[in-house]
Amino acid sequence: MAVQTAATSTDSAAANSATANSGSVDLGPAAALSCRECGHRVPLGPVFACEECFGPLEIAYDFSAYDTEELRRRIESGPANIWRYAPLLPVPADVAGKPNLNPGWTKLVQADNLARELGVTGGLYVKDDSGNPTHSFKDRVVAQALEAARAFGFTTLSCSSTGNLAGAVGAAAARAGFRSCVFIPHDLEQGKVVMAAVYGGDLVGIQGNYDDVNRFCSELIGDPAGEGWGFVNVNLRPYYAEGSKTLAYEICEQLGWRLPDQIVVPIASGSQLTKIDKGLQELIKLGLVEDRPYKIFGAQAEGCSPVSTAYKDGHDVVRPQKPDTIAKSLAIGNPADGPYVLDIARRTGGAVEDVDDAEIVDAIRLLARTEGIFAETAGGVTVGVTRKLIKNGLLDPEKTTVVLNTGDGLKTLDAVAGTGLTATIRPSLDAFREAGLA
Ligand SMILES: *Cc1c(COP(=O)(O)O)cnc(C)c1O
Ligand SMILES: [Zn+2]
Repeated sequence: MAVQTAATSTDSAAANSATANSGSVDLGPAAALSCRECGHRVPLGPVFACEECFGPLEIAYDFSAYDTEELRRRIESGPANIWRYAPLLPVPADVAGKPNLNPGWTKLVQADNLARELGVTGGLYVKDDSGNPTHSFKDRVVAQALEAARAFGFTTLSCSSTGNLAGAVGAAAARAGFRSCVFIPHDLEQGKVVMAAVYGGDLVGIQGNYDDVNRFCSELIGDPAGEGWGFVNVNLRPYYAEGSKTLAYEICEQLGWRLPDQIVVPIASGSQLTKIDKGLQELIKLGLVEDRPYKIFGAQAEGCSPVSTAYKDGHDVVRPQKPDTIAKSLAIGNPADGPYVLDIARRTGGAVEDVDDAEIVDAIRLLARTEGIFAETAGGVTVGVTRKLIKNGLLDPEKTTVVLNTGDGLKTLDAVAGTGLTATIRPSLDAFREAGLA
């Protein structure tokens, strides 16, 4: 199945690298791509911007044939990974048999110790996505993009990454037999660079920040050099983004098919947050959970807080910032989904808040000390923001609350530098006593 690449170099060709592969692709219940701004529909293909208004395209589904109880049984008897939700995702029905990293079904940890520390009485849970194959939530989104890449006949997987995505793409490409070539800012944490490089694909450091990397990738898509390349978060973005819905599905199923009252979600581009909302809405419409109010809260680092700044200022537009924070996985200064995040936080009665680097480190230590979960900086952001939202009265401690930890602390060891030995002693009981440890 060959992908035809547009030969022109106009803006719209650059925005939509290849012509849509109309009709013949089997991506399960995915029916078409639909513009989030004007509703214009186009056939499924490796395109991401509306040809009418340049708005972002997203997947439109046909779920009309589903019976609620039958669907619930089908999900519950499915594999212990994201493919249990295949009937709700843009993937072929036989996806579980294809070479993929099969992420998901991560632990929803009942965090009673943290709850006591934060004064939460309504039930506090940490959805711990560090348990995914490459130790971040990104495996969920890459798994979807890989299936789309396969369907469209791409042979190279690529992306612009703040770190975790690079590793997830490298690993998925290795498993599935694709070439990979991924682009990152040159100054990322060592743990993320090694994690991305070890799978054997090409890893390119760009002299600039994430927004520069992203701009470069957009140029590459419009160029013959990028022909046959699936950029998971650019020309495959509509498919990629749907992977975040699985967080919503898993949280509700793990709570016994119940919506949580409040969810605290980190924001980089804002895609994860908007798709968690989409996932919750689908569960309500399909009758899999009872329809009752929930609030979605967004969490940012103060050093890269374009969305929380807009939220607090009461603005609808998000003004780009130059990131400067230890939470590099969230350091997107010009977040594509920023305005949609503002809509969702306001519509659901949530909020968007930020914490500074010291608060992030403090929260990483708090989560580790109370629950035995070592989060990367993004997890420090969500836990720190949760604490702040309780203090300023925006998050109700008497309601069921889920906080996302989206990555593993082993990748961001520098954030907790100085953490180490309690003492160094001679191998004798005397020395042990002298050190005050007995
Ligand atoms: C990418 C990422 C996110 C969220 O990214 P969005 O672009 O907002 O979807 C959250 N946490 C970690 C650790 C990430 O790597
Ligand atoms: Zn449009």
